[in-house]
Amino acid sequence: MIETFIGLEIHIQLLTKTKIFCNCKNEFSHIPNTNVCPVCMGYPGVLPRLNEEAVRKAYIVCRALNCHLNEKAVFERKNYFYPDLPKNYQISQFALPFGVNGLVEIDGVPKIRIHEAHLEEDAGKLVHEGMTSYCDFNRTGTPLLEIVTEPDFKKPEDAELFLQNFRKMVRYLRVCDGNMEEGSMRCDVNVSVNFEGKGLGRKVEIKNLNSFRHVRLALQHEIQRQSKMLTAGETIVQETRLWNDEKKRTESMRSKEDANDYRYFPEPDLPPYYPAPEFLAAIEKEQTELPWIRKRRFINEYKLADDGAEFLTEERERADFFEAALNAGVSVQSASSWMRGEIAKGLNKNKMSLKDSHLTVEKFVTLIKLLDEGKINSQGAKKAMEILICEDKDTADVIRENNLMQMADSGELEAVVDKVIAGNDKVVQQIKGGDQKPIGFLIGQIMKASGGKADPKKARELLLNKIS
Ligand code: ADP
Ligand code: ZN
Ligand code: MG
Repeated sequence: MIETFIGLEIHIQLLTKTKIFCNCKNEFSHIPNTNVCPVCMGYPGVLPRLNEEAVRKAYIVCRALNCHLNEKAVFERKNYFYPDLPKNYQISQFALPFGVNGLVEIDGVPKIRIHEAHLEEDAGKLVHEGMTSYCDFNRTGTPLLEIVTEPDFKKPEDAELFLQNFRKMVRYLRVCDGNMEEGSMRCDVNVSVNFEGKGLGRKVEIKNLNSFRHVRLALQHEIQRQSKMLTAGETIVQETRLWNDEKKRTESMRSKEDANDYRYFPEPDLPPYYPAPEFLAAIEKEQTELPWIRKRRFINEYKLADDGAEFLTEERERADFFEAALNAGVSVQSASSWMRGEIAKGLNKNKMSLKDSHLTVEKFVTLIKLLDEGKINSQGAKKAMEILICEDKDTADVIRENNLMQMADSGELEAVVDKVIAGNDKVVQQIKGGDQKPIGFLIGQIMKASGGKADPKKARELLLNKIS
């Protein structure tokens, strides 16, 4: 039997206003080299100044991953030459990172130990056009948190599920937007195989994975490739490989035989960092319920099915919305079916998230109350919801302006029923003769004639009374 070992190295760009060591804006810009200054351009003689917001967000993640927080953390220079690194070194952490020895327990994934989480600066970007390469330093100095797991994953599917939950987590914590296409969350995977009981094999690192699917496919392919070699008695070389998505295979990029020597040494321009007890206490207080824990609670507390709980806890805003609606008296059944149904549909249609739509919990609760009281019918409520999502209006105004109130006056309804009976004599005779089927058709006609404002229950009662 062959055993598999997988370890992940995840990079997340932290959501801060400014870069990690200077006052340049930390935001994406289409115009190269606009968010730059002498500090992040690596001019000689400049001094880095540590961004407290980046530090705070880094600790929030360390805490969520149950890391031990070192009493003393040290920034170090990682020395290497590359055109996207103007200083020829990256300020990172090495011997004493912010967090070490963490543990993550996600339902459905084995317990994963976290080796460390360290804060560093991102490098710039190279843009290649034909035979020319350009340097864009806008990204240089973006605060980057690297999370390194132990090689505790046994299956590609576990790594994929872990990453999906990890992405949800950093979005819940509001420390990273988790956008993998734009590279604000990136992942390298390490994998080795060995005969069972023999321990870790010689690892191969795979880079260039910008989706969860690619992570799974690359791992599956690589495990197969390595297992074949192992069984055939061939030597697996320690190397870095790239995922080629067109050919659906990994390809060698560079051998790692001449092991990296980055000549790390403590950054002389930054003092060691000692997290103050008050600072750590504030981090502790700010902890949010993590998505997988919230999902489990939703299943237990609200008796939701797995898929329902999964949907409702997908985003923190969604889960907050749901629970706020419950607190305001909406039933679990009604809140979840509206959120999975009409609300999701409306948001989808407008390509909006809950956060950037105009719908608020208050507007939703008012709508549900009116529906429950019979002031509007479900058809009217659905129509109102469509408008509430994309227009900045109160529920009451939307209902009034669009004339969505149910016919409260039974006289008004009676007139409509009479009209429909008079206009559909053949069908009425059919019903009188004992055929129940066309009743639905007549109710449909009544709804239509009332402009959707009739209460279908009352209409049915009235109709049957009149016919019999
Ligand atoms: P490096 O010195 O090459 O950076 P590390 O020991 O720091 O290697 O580990 C980097 C990543 O590789 C971690 O995620 C770790 O879990 C994983 N890893 C280390 N050794 C192995 C192995 N033999 N098989 C699979 N993954 C491994
Ligand atoms: Zn700068
Ligand atoms: Mg390492």
